[in-house]
Amino acid sequence: MTVPRIWRKIPQYYNLIGKKCQKCNSLYFPPRDVCTHCGEINLQNYKLEGNGEIITFTVIRTPMPDPEGEIIDIPGRQIPYIIAIIKLDQGPCLTSEIVDCSPGEVKIGKKVKSVFRKIVEKGPRGVIQYGCKFKLI
Ligand SMILES: [Zn+2]
Repeated sequence: MTVPRIWRKIPQYYNLIGKKCQKCNSLYFPPRDVCTHCGEINLQNYKLEGNGEIITFTVIRTPMPDPEGEIIDIPGRQIPYIIAIIKLDQGPCLTSEIVDCSPGEVKIGKKVKSVFRKIVEKGPRGVIQYGCKFKLI
């Protein structure tokens, strides 16, 4: 991801900013331009609360190599780590890493909440990307 793209996406990464349809109130994350329920194009930014439930998850024991060879550091990354699909209490589903626990603690249906974390540091200048991960509550 290039620096300009990171900057464009910062509000979403920092704050779980999705979109809300002004016609039927459907919520979307990641944000989209058209409501898939009613076709409305008037969607406004909407701050999601970040509480949700684990729908399913996988334990990564062999991480993918970095195809661009740019990643310097993924802080706190230990193998194995957990990637989950989370259904937010407000409706949208998203994929995120579950942090601060061992794989044995993670179960389908467990409640989680978003936490603000360093996602990755990459590139020759060490660009740091921040964003939301989730932890068990
Ligand atoms: Zn709609």
